[in-house]
Amino acid sequence: MKETDLEQYLIIYYHSLLTLNEKLAYRHYLTTQKAESSGSDFGKILIQTWGTRDKEALKLLEDGYDAFKKKIATRLLKEVPELIFINNCPKCKKLARTPEAKQCRFCGHDWH
Ligand SMILES: [Zn+2]
Repeated sequence: MKETDLEQYLIIYYHSLLTLNEKLAYRHYLTTQKAESSGSDFGKILIQTWGTRDKEALKLLEDGYDAFKKKIATRLLKEVPELIFINNCPKCKKLARTPEAKQCRFCGHDWH
């Protein structure tokens, strides 16, 4: 397991803080991932249904998903740090699985 993926954590648990274009781009990315593992016709339907044609949203993905995640994380931590709880383990300081988690997935420490 990857040590910490703060960027993914922010996108999942603080999804409501994403802009509309970021949400569209994220959904588009997930859909293209799913479409690639589906048959070509079904994949096309998925993208037509859940993907976006919004140029601004697609532009966010043009440098790849890792760059996209990083852009969002940087923006959120700069613009709304007071709304974000980075739930690091009190013992080993690694990032917990969710903002509500009270047990560390790395060292097993429990802070209930
Ligand atoms: Zn820990």
